[in-house]
Amino acid sequence: MANNPVEDRLRALTTLQVLDSKLDDIHRLRGSLPEEVSDLEDDLEGLVTRHDRIEEEIKEFKAEITLRKSKIEEFTGQIKKYEEQQMQVKNNREFEALRKEIEYANLEILTSEKKIRQHNDQIEQKQELMEETKSRVDAKRHELEEKKKELEVIIEETKVEEARILELIKGAETKVESRFLSGYRKVRQNMRNGLAVVTTDRNACGGCFSIIPPQVHIELNQRSRLITCENCGRILVDESFFEEVIEAVSA
Ligand SMILES: [Zn+2]
Repeated sequence: MANNPVEDRLRALTTLQVLDSKLDDIHRLRGSLPEEVSDLEDDLEGLVTRHDRIEEEIKEFKAEITLRKSKIEEFTGQIKKYEEQQMQVKNNREFEALRKEIEYANLEILTSEKKIRQHNDQIEQKQELMEETKSRVDAKRHELEEKKKELEVIIEETKVEEARILELIKGAETKVESRFLSGYRKVRQNMRNGLAVVTTDRNACGGCFSIIPPQVHIELNQRSRLITCENCGRILVDESFFEEVIEAVSA
């Protein structure tokens, strides 16, 4: 096989493509798992925050109840004192003044008792909500752990192969001149399937399926120059060449 510089370049680029595609396959195997894991982590954080906020609200209601209870105690004590004083008053005016104080204290006690009932109702509602949130937190945490495990297994299974391919890619890159390498990378980046080197498929570009003129097809087989698809910019190689490279890479 006559080795010309164009063919060497094509071989290096095609080798790179075959290796990059293998790496893509590994990443595809991991699929959306990494993203799912990070989404679940966000969800979990949000739920935990909600749970803690409800807990905080319950604490505030409880503190308010404690305050109200001490107020009731205070007013009850006052009432007792006023009643004792009433026994010792010298005139009606004094008795009446104390009676008003007692009335006021009783009203305060009633208000506080009403507030305590309200807060207890609120606490009950919040507690229900908190428990519901807690079970959602638990479910989410469980889901996250399962996903993480799944991802870890896949990463573990593919780690060695990934490292091997990355090493091969590094080696293959050194065989491509930098301007061709950056051109290849740029095209690859722009393609959803990551293919920057494609074979021709029945006189059409294997990447975008636009027609390749017969003359270009002849040149492709001659490998006399690096030919890119005019429509999509991918590097074109003939199928037997591509197969040859795949075999060489697998060997
Ligand atoms: Zn094309």
